[in-house]
Amino acid sequence: MFGRGTTTFNRYLGDPAHALNPCVAPIDIAPFYGVRLTVGDLSTYDGILTDTCARVLRGDGSVIAGLYVVGADRASMMGGAYPGPGINHGPHMATACAAVSCIAGMGD
Ligand SMILES: Cc1cc2nc3c(=O)[nH]c(=O)nc-3n(C[C@H](O)[C@H](O)[C@H](O)COP(=O)(O)OP(=O)(O)OC[C@H]3O[C@@H](n4cnc5c(N)ncnc54)[C@H](O)[C@@H]3O)c2cc1C
Repeated sequence: MFGRGTTTFNRYLGDPAHALNPCVAPIDIAPFYGVRLTVGDLSTYDGILTDTCARVLRGDGSVIAGLYVVGADRASMMGGAYPGPGINHGPHMATACAAVSCIAGMGD
């Protein structure tokens, strides 16, 4: 079972009407089909560290003037964790807005 149904996130996406484990059931009704699976990336939730203006930071924490990063390349406010679906676009838009405000001189 590869741990299916062992996390809240797994179980939320399963069939709540299926007792014991909402994510696993016997496959015993034909016809059966096979699909080829390949690995893919959804997004990232860790990346380049910035300040609140989205300015890129060096390893020592100092700002690299004029270099900004937003979106999937920027370290997520989730600190390298993926708490659930939809956690990318919201933070991306918020940090992009902060970056533009800083560049326009409206905040720091
Ligand atoms: C199937 C799927 C479902 C998703 N569902 C959700 C969801 O429900 N909610 C959510 O919040 N997030 C979701 N995401 C994640 C979200 O889509 C990404 O986190 C987000 O799109 C990243 O935005 P971005 O602008 O940082 O990067 P991208 O959208 O990857 O944009 C990067 C752009 O740069 C271009 N590019 C790359 N290299 C170069 C180059 N050398 N020169 C010029 N251009 C270049 C690429 O062509 C691309 O257009 C999903 C992702 C996938 C794949």
